[in-house]
Amino acid sequence: MRGMMLPVNCVISRPGIAKPSATSHPRPARMQIAADTSLSSSQQPSTPATTTLSVRRRLPEWLKVKLPTSSAFTRTRLLLSDLKLHTVCESAQCPNHWECWSKGTATFMIAGDRCTRACGFCAVSTAKPLALDADEPERVAEATRRMGLRHVVITAVARDDLPDGGAAHFQETISSVRERNPGIIIEVLTPDFLDRESSLDLVLDARPEIFNHNLETVRRLTPSVRHRATYDRSLSVLARAKARGGPDLVTKSGLMLGLGETIPEVIEAMEDLRASRVDILTLGQYLQPTLKHLPVVDFISPQVFAQLKKEAEALGFVHVASGPLVRSSYHADEFTPSGPT
Ligand code: SF4
Repeated sequence: MRGMMLPVNCVISRPGIAKPSATSHPRPARMQIAADTSLSSSQQPSTPATTTLSVRRRLPEWLKVKLPTSSAFTRTRLLLSDLKLHTVCESAQCPNHWECWSKGTATFMIAGDRCTRACGFCAVSTAKPLALDADEPERVAEATRRMGLRHVVITAVARDDLPDGGAAHFQETISSVRERNPGIIIEVLTPDFLDRESSLDLVLDARPEIFNHNLETVRRLTPSVRHRATYDRSLSVLARAKARGGPDLVTKSGLMLGLGETIPEVIEAMEDLRASRVDILTLGQYLQPTLKHLPVVDFISPQVFAQLKKEAEALGFVHVASGPLVRSSYHADEFTPSGPT
């Protein structure tokens, strides 16, 4: 880290933009985050532009990933293709695709590859979904078995077209995976199910060990980043899951950084997550999948991610993954639930 202490009310790393408005929450001195000189004082918090004319910015060195040299990547690809499964690794153009598949892991995306929502950050296609594939839970279970996973992450597109939002399909998938892979840790990363209690119950009845729902961004930016979701609904889903799942259920959420949020806004989001009794936090850099998606406002340095990790740990998260390439499921198996939290 190169030096200066950043005023806590400045926008993370956007040249030419200064202090946020008085609506930002002042932080005690403890919350000050040192940052390198690439971070600037800014006049206003920024909002990601919605224009399609933006130009993608060059990636900083810390976001350049190495391509694999092992044949394991191909084995994973062939296995997933053989079982006709979708992954968020591919559909969301995850930058860790090469690394994770080369290590023989992947995150399954169930309920099709067409989402009923059109979030400004997400590369998954928006289209009228197809009918659910009744055999998909078994195929996910079989893939998990063949890959030898001890910790599996299962996510889904948002299925607002279905009365239960796809919750029963989640339940069947969890049950099938557990049956064919005894002792496995199952982590689900769900949509908000419109905060429908009955849908959440269906998922939690299958007793996943980890329930993840991403807050994605700070309160101010949520309407421009997740058009059909709300910040408070996501917090409600997480709080409800914890209350319903009890102390045995580990809850998890994540934020993308680099969309124009300020440090106080990030810390406020972390506090809101803790108030919803979330146990695990992931913080990663937002990357623009195509020019039609929201542009990157800032590339957040690894040093700032490290400082935010310390802040999050001080707030009481039991596990924090924070870094430019961190995604919800990146190295998910590094956390093993050890019982009631
Ligand atoms: S981080 Fe998650 S989504 Fe990305 S490649 Fe790895 S398993 Fe897939």
